[in-house]
Amino acid sequence: MPKYILKPIVFEAVQWTPTTKHEAVTLHAMHRVAGGNICQECHQFDRLHGFIDHGGNTKPTRVCPGDYVVTHPNGGVYACKPEDFEKTCVPYEEGTALMAGKS
Ligand SMILES: [Zn+2]
Repeated sequence: MPKYILKPIVFEAVQWTPTTKHEAVTLHAMHRVAGGNICQECHQFDRLHGFIDHGGNTKPTRVCPGDYVVTHPNGGVYACKPEDFEKTCVPYEEGTALMAGKS
C-alpha cells in the first residue's frame, strides 16, 4: 500500500497567558460567568482564562493559561494544550525548506 506524509503547513501560534494580547481571544472578565471556580483541566482560577469566540451559535473555546493559540492558514483559530503542541510542532524560520515542498 502507498504511504503518505502530511504536507507541512506554516501557521502562527502564541503561548497564551492572561496578559497576552490576541485579537481572537477575549479575557474571562469580558464574559458574564463567575471567575472564582477552578478549571478542571489546568486547576487554575476561571478568571485567568480566555475564550476564542467562533461566532454564530458555536460555543466559544476556552483557553487555559499556557495553551497555544493557533491561527490556521484557513483563518480558523484554535487552542492547543502545550503538551500536544510541543509534540507535533516545531518553530519555523522564514526561508527554511519545507520537507514535503510542492503543494
Ligand atoms: Zn484551565
